[in-house]
Amino acid sequence: MRYDDSPPPPESSSSVSPDRPWYTRRSTLAVAVAALAPTALAGWVLTQVLTGSGHDGQPPGPKALPASHTTGAGAHGGAGDAKASTTTPSPDASASASASASAPAAPAKGPLAGRTVVIDPGHNTGNFKHTSEIDRQVDIGTNRKECDTTGTTTNSGYMEAEFTLDVSRRTRTLLESKGAKVVFTHDADRPWGPCIDERARIGNEAKADAVVSVHADGVSAGNRGFHIILPATVKGGAADTSKIVGPSRDLGERIAGNFARSTGSAPANYLGSGTGLVVRDDLGGLNLSTRPKVFIECGNMRDAKDAAQLTSPEWRQKAAEGITNGIVGFLGG
Ligand code: ZN
Repeated sequence: MRYDDSPPPPESSSSVSPDRPWYTRRSTLAVAVAALAPTALAGWVLTQVLTGSGHDGQPPGPKALPASHTTGAGAHGGAGDAKASTTTPSPDASASASASASAPAAPAKGPLAGRTVVIDPGHNTGNFKHTSEIDRQVDIGTNRKECDTTGTTTNSGYMEAEFTLDVSRRTRTLLESKGAKVVFTHDADRPWGPCIDERARIGNEAKADAVVSVHADGVSAGNRGFHIILPATVKGGAADTSKIVGPSRDLGERIAGNFARSTGSAPANYLGSGTGLVVRDDLGGLNLSTRPKVFIECGNMRDAKDAAQLTSPEWRQKAAEGITNGIVGFLGG
């Protein structure tokens, strides 16, 4: 696990923001979350979860029901072929500004005007049909890893990849309404993938001000709640997260707080010591990012109570609102 010359000790609190823990920011969460404060404080220094196994986008620790990653394929075909990955509010601000000097309308307005957010819908519904492609190893700087994974499903077959795309699209709508330029890593416009290294590259090349990778977890029933995955400090090959660890934690804390408030969900009860925050060094999508980036695991698809939420369009809208508000807070909107 020692990838660089200065492995972060668990208490490498250079990246910790004790002055502004998310669970203290919003009084409306007080009842639900205040009880978590003691463990949360411990969690700030203990969430350095280092695992060498597990797929990208999946949590540390044993995955329940490996079969869940191979079932459901039949029910869901390849990705659609409709929309473009990039939804840039058009025309772009500079173009329209120069086009009409006397009519300064058009450019995006709102608190996120001029900001770029990359949303990464985890997995792809077509991955089940392209196992050879997604099993290919790619370089994540510190290691080599599968290009992508299928993701999980609920017990009734609702695919994580469907969930992530839906929440991502809802988030895009909200972000664009606030003036942001939103770029997707994919939008059901390709049969599989993209690979995790490409997902990171899209954020980097967009010079994103924030990147959020949307997921849901697939662990055994009884494990509930959401968590945010933050990048560990890693260095190796093309991976160097030293510049993004701090801002990514800020982004993650803000999303955690807003997500809890908007959805009413609690931080995960099975990892993160009740903080809803976990640090990982094994995810290519984080290791290769040069922009502030987090993953969010919105809930556990294999738990019936969580699944009831994850399959609800109304709940997914609340999830998107929480993610959006966290991004807005991070970007100072
Ligand atoms: Zn996932």
